[in-house]
Amino acid sequence: MKVLVIEDNQDIAASIRDYLETLHYAVDVARDGMTGLNLAISYAYSVIILDLGLPDIDGIDICHRLRHDAHQPVPVLMLTARDSLESKLEGFESGADDYLVKPFSLKELAARIKVLSERIGRRPEPRLQIADLTLDVTTHEVCRAGKRMDLSPSLFRILMYLMRNPHRVIAKEELEHAVWQNHPPGSDALRTHLFNLRQLVDRPFDQPLLHTVRGFGVMISDRNAED
Ligand code: CA
Repeated sequence: MKVLVIEDNQDIAASIRDYLETLHYAVDVARDGMTGLNLAISYAYSVIILDLGLPDIDGIDICHRLRHDAHQPVPVLMLTARDSLESKLEGFESGADDYLVKPFSLKELAARIKVLSERIGRRPEPRLQIADLTLDVTTHEVCRAGKRMDLSPSLFRILMYLMRNPHRVIAKEELEHAVWQNHPPGSDALRTHLFNLRQLVDRPFDQPLLHTVRGFGVMISDRNAED
C-alpha cells in the first residue's frame, strides 16, 4: 500500500514515514503543498496524510483541488495543530475523510489509515472526460469518439494530468514535474511527448483538444482557445 505524506515539518514527516515503513507501507513525502498536489494527482495512493498548515498552499486548498478540480477520490486524513471545531468543519467541507489533531500517536494514525483504506480505498475513480475523449484511471483505457488508443505510460500520465486540470494552462515545468518529478528524461522530452500525444488524440479528429498557449504552457479544453 502506498501512502503520501504532505507535511512541511521534517521531524513529523520523518517519524510518520519511519513508522509506516515498519508496517510495510510504501511512503512518499512531500514537503510543500504544490509538490504534494502534483504527486497526488499523478499517482494512485491508498491514503493521503495532509498537513493543514503548509508553506505554499494550505491543506484545505489542496483537498479542495483534489476533490473538485482533479476528481480524485483518494481518502484524505488531515493533520492539524488547530484544535477547533471550526477548522475541523472546514476540513470536512473541503473533502477530507478524517482528522487528527497534533500531537497524535503514530499508533492511532496507523489505525486510522487502515480503516480509511479499507472503507474508502476501493472507491472507484470516475472516468475523466473532455468532449468525446475519455480516460479511465483504473483500467488505463483511453478512447476518443469510441475509438480506443494505446498510450505509453508517460503519454498516459501527461494526458491524465491535463484531464484532471481541464481548461487550465499548465506550465511546462509543472507538467514535467507531475510526470517525471525531478528527473525529466531530457530537456526536449516533454515537447516530443506532447507532439506524439497530439498525433494520437487530436490529429485524426476535427476538434483539437490540446492547445499550446505560447509562452505559458499547454491546456486541454473543448472550449475555444488560442492554438
Ligand atoms: Ca505545518
